[in-house]
Parts: sequence; structure tokens; C-alpha cells
Amino acid sequence: MHIKEINLESYKHLIEISDTCPHCGKIMEPHQIYSFFDGASNTAILVFRCTITSCRKFFILEYNTPSIFSELYEPVNYQYNGVMNVDISQNIQLLSPIFSDTFTEASIAESKSLNNISGLAFRKSFEFLVKDFASYQHPDKVEKIRNEKLNNVIDMFYKDMPKIKELLHIIRRVGNDETHYYREFTDIDVKDLKKLIHSFSLYIDMILNIDEFSEKVK
Ligand SMILES: [Zn+2]
Repeated sequence: MHIKEINLESYKHLIEISDTCPHCGKIMEPHQIYSFFDGASNTAILVFRCTITSCRKFFILEYNTPSIFSELYEPVNYQYNGVMNVDISQNIQLLSPIFSDTFTEASIAESKSLNNISGLAFRKSFEFLVKDFASYQHPDKVEKIRNEKLNNVIDMFYKDMPKIKELLHIIRRVGNDETHYYREFTDIDVKDLKKLIHSFSLYIDMILNIDEFSEKVK
């Protein structure tokens, strides 16, 4: 929270405002777009825009008129629900809806700096993606894949793709670090875990595109 000067009905006032955008969660200084005084509720309604280039979303805040003892407008408690658009390809969304949902929830937790929760959720989303892609490639073994340990699924169903298998074991170990009391890798964090999972999703996306278009050009 910090103090910001705003314009309200041609006068300057001081408000207390969050340091982060309610949409993207990034630290920014919002740009005031519009304001009006609501006589019925005796509150100031202020429209802001996030100044982060990749976001630029609008949000509305409401402020109680200060008492005669204070200059500062106090915020009325608003809870935005934190719905985010996470960049997951349509191929991946169709292949594994449960990965897409879990990865999105992990990203929401990450945007709110809930790093303990986001790390666990990214690890969980990764397991869904590994198993759903293995199931896609081995439709006769879906039940076995779903019930098998992640480590074994990687060894059994990704053995013909050595670099991908290596990547998956790296992600598995980094992800498992999120579940342990002591960290094995002190210089690797949740952002790295997310980046590694994204790399795997790019590979899957490529395979699904090849499969789709090889059907079309037969
Ligand atoms: Zn923003």
C-alpha cells in the first residue's frame, strides 16, 4: 500500500492504494482515468488503468470520504476474483483439461506471490500433462498410465525420446523439491519450474500439430 494523489471533482485528494495490479498482480503505479463522487454512498469512485504494457487493464476502486480528522480516503474492501488468462494452447487444453485448470490455478497463486501453493500446483499440473500425453500416445494403456507412479511413466512411455525423458526427470526432481521440507536445489525456483513445464508443453503442441496436419495432407 502507498499514498497516491488523485483528482476528484477538480480537487486533489490523498488515497491509500495497493502497489500491485488486481489483474496481473505486478507492481505498478496506476494511471487515474476517471472519478466521480457518489452522494448516495458518500464515497469516491475511481477508475484506474494498469500501467504494465502487457496488461493495461482497467479497475475500479471505491473510497470512503475521510472524517474531519483525516485527509486520507480509505479504500472500501473490494475482492477481485483473480481470474487470469494463462497462455495454454488449444491443443493442450483439449488434450488435458485437468492440466490446463491446474496450471491456471497455479499461475493465479503465483501472481499473488503464494509461492508454496503455486509450486505444489505446478508440480501437480505437470503430472497430469505427462500422463495425459502418454495416454494420447498409448490409448490402450490409459488405466495403467493413470495408476502408475510418475517416475515409472516417464521411464516406460518416454524412453524413445531421450531428451524429452531427460527434461521430464529434471522437471520431476525440481517439482518434487516443492513438496520437501529441505530444498535440494537452492538456485532453482517456481519460475524455473513453470518455464520447464512450458518447454514440455511446446513439444507436445508441436507433436499434436504434426499429427493434425499429417492427417490433412494424406
Ligand atoms: Zn496489470
